[in-house]
Amino acid sequence: MSDAATRTTSTVTPVEPPRAVQRAAYADVPLYDPKRVPTAIDLSDNTNLWGLPPTAERTLRELAISRITRYPSLYAAELKAALAATAGVTPDMIVTGCGSDDVLDSAMRAFADPGALVASSTPTFAMVPIFARMNALRHVAIEEDATHVPDLEALAATGADLLYLCAPNNPTGRMIPRDALRRLLRTFPGVVILDEAYIEFAGADASHVPLLAESDRLLLVRTMSKAYGLAGMRVGYAIGAPALVGEVEKSRGPYKVNALAESVALAALQHDREWVHEHVTLAIANRLRLEDELRAMGLSPIASSANFTCVPVSDCVAVGQAMRARGVAVRPFPALPHVGDTLRISVGPWPMVQAALDALRSVLAERGPLRDTDTIAIPRGAA
Ligand SMILES: *Cc1c(COP(=O)(O)O)cnc(C)c1O
Repeated sequence: MSDAATRTTSTVTPVEPPRAVQRAAYADVPLYDPKRVPTAIDLSDNTNLWGLPPTAERTLRELAISRITRYPSLYAAELKAALAATAGVTPDMIVTGCGSDDVLDSAMRAFADPGALVASSTPTFAMVPIFARMNALRHVAIEEDATHVPDLEALAATGADLLYLCAPNNPTGRMIPRDALRRLLRTFPGVVILDEAYIEFAGADASHVPLLAESDRLLLVRTMSKAYGLAGMRVGYAIGAPALVGEVEKSRGPYKVNALAESVALAALQHDREWVHEHVTLAIANRLRLEDELRAMGLSPIASSANFTCVPVSDCVAVGQAMRARGVAVRPFPALPHVGDTLRISVGPWPMVQAALDALRSVLAERGPLRDTDTIAIPRGAA
């Protein structure tokens, strides 16, 4: 290195932090980090552990290269038509996105000006406060009641511009009683986003689509990441009144569902619904069996309507780590209201669930007798 070069390097003054590149609202926006570590058996993210449906897989393998060199459709018209047919609505009631994450983010932008207030129940989907901040919105969380149902009156009383609800809720798996939801829709003046990421697992009558006839301010948000086994494809959508989904489509922008994803999702909707139904049925059976086994261990799982079970276990983070050391990942949720520490265990083929049970049993046995906080009674309530 030349003298001049050395001198130049050594006399450079420390770089000032650049000014005004950061939006004020972004100062404390965290990157999403669910602390996932590659583990032999991963029951931590509620995806379809049986794999992806057969026609979706074949479509993926055989996709024409020409689909990739050209732009995908602007707003995924063909996919919208297939989603509409599946949901029993018209295509103008559907908006798609790059995962339902994208749809939720776009909806917040579409229905709330910067500074507006978003309210959600806690606990719920961890991305909600992050999307609120990303869109310069204020966010308030209201604790759910002791039966794990959102306090809808308290949520409405916040004066929020936008409500986010999730049924079955992540992480508790609980539904929201239909009458309470109807009452809310009649009185709350803003938009209600109802996340149905796990609706396929909640039974044939669980869909909230019938409520769309009663409210043009209800937006149902769904995903192909869970029951349809396509999390890596990133396909989500929302169902609502045409005027409502039209606004989300504007804030979402064109080309959000890529060509590969659109073809694969379309194939799954057209040809794999029976496969999806069969595996949803298996997931429900295995969840009920998991809940029985947990109860036989002296634990008190929360009655779930999804493809996972949330079970109180004290020191859940340490227990989760010890289970991971035994090759099984589950997701700890510390200090939930009315319950305390919990583990959320996704359901998949029974041998995987059995491995989780074996790991949990071994960790708890090593720790000694169950504590009061491991056996907390869960009120069953409605829904
Ligand atoms: C998994 C999940 C989603 C995200 O789904 P993507 O479509 O993969 O973005 C949305 N909401 C809830 C409640 C989820 O658990």
